Amino acid sequence: MRFSEIICNEELKQRLMQMVDRDMLPHAIMFSEKSSGGALALALALAQYVNCRHHTDNDSCGECPSCHKYRKLIHPDLHFVFPVNASKDISETEKKRPISDYFLPIWRHLVMSNPYFGEQELYDAIGLDNKTGNISVYEAKRLIEKLALRSFEGEYKTVIIFLAEKMNQEAANKLLKLLEEPPQGTLFLLITQAPEKILPTIISRCQLIQVPPISKEESKSKPITNENSMYSEVVVGLLKAGLGKNLLATFPVWESLSELGREKQREFCIYTENYIRNIYMVANGLPQIADINPNNEVIIGEFAQRIKPSFYEKGINALDQAMTAINSNVNSKLIFCDLCNRLLLSL
Ligand SMILES: [Zn+2]
Repeated sequence: MRFSEIICNEELKQRLMQMVDRDMLPHAIMFSEKSSGGALALALALAQYVNCRHHTDNDSCGECPSCHKYRKLIHPDLHFVFPVNASKDISETEKKRPISDYFLPIWRHLVMSNPYFGEQELYDAIGLDNKTGNISVYEAKRLIEKLALRSFEGEYKTVIIFLAEKMNQEAANKLLKLLEEPPQGTLFLLITQAPEKILPTIISRCQLIQVPPISKEESKSKPITNENSMYSEVVVGLLKAGLGKNLLATFPVWESLSELGREKQREFCIYTENYIRNIYMVANGLPQIADINPNNEVIIGEFAQRIKPSFYEKGINALDQAMTAINSNVNSKLIFCDLCNRLLLSL
């Protein structure tokens, strides 16, 4: 994809292109973002720009053979690594040592249709059900084999590692060796949403670039995921039930939440925490620093008027504790029954 096609901070796009134009591109960049804020799209645009034969100082050409292959994500010198696991969609043999290559057609489809997806959307697409993905040592070994070959066409071989924090220790040690003695002409683009979980020695080998969250203006052109609109409905229902002290109305809510996979449960808790923070900011006259989806402005304004000040801290604490319990594999029904009760009692 070209820089002009992606939603991301404009200054950052220019900075990356200048690094290429001034021949100051490091061999490894780690893009750090808080949530799916466009780092993957940015990495892809950079990789295409680096390999484009006729790029201007503003963008890749979009027309040369390299750009065509990058657009379809089929360039032979473009390699992807992302967290996977044994999925029902791969063969019994593949399940023993699952690697990203087995899921490439699905990955390409996912990236081309919306490169702003999150961790759970990836797992759903590759059929992990309730499993969490990881980047294993087999993945790292396969990557080393691929990079030992000469580049097929381009000047650069590009490796994009999505959610690098999902590397296990063994994989991380292998990658570290690659980063310490990088194969010539190889560009590593790592994307992380949790840099604190990555070996400091890996981080120190990369140029770290913070990708800011997509601004309100920019997000108007970003597709809103179904996931968020579903969570929004649940949160609104829950807060209304709480304000009306309608305990019965919370039963179907916690039952359906307890049936979600753990990643989605965590995502729901994070979404709800942000939602409550937004209400808090509006209630305190700071809507300009809240990050509110335009579809939710009216209802958040209503909640800001009705919710008492003591709720916010209690609500966030309840959600934090629910997330800790999810991470500790506590029974989901207990977690969400308790969460709904605590939210209801604090409202
Ligand atoms: Zn081109």
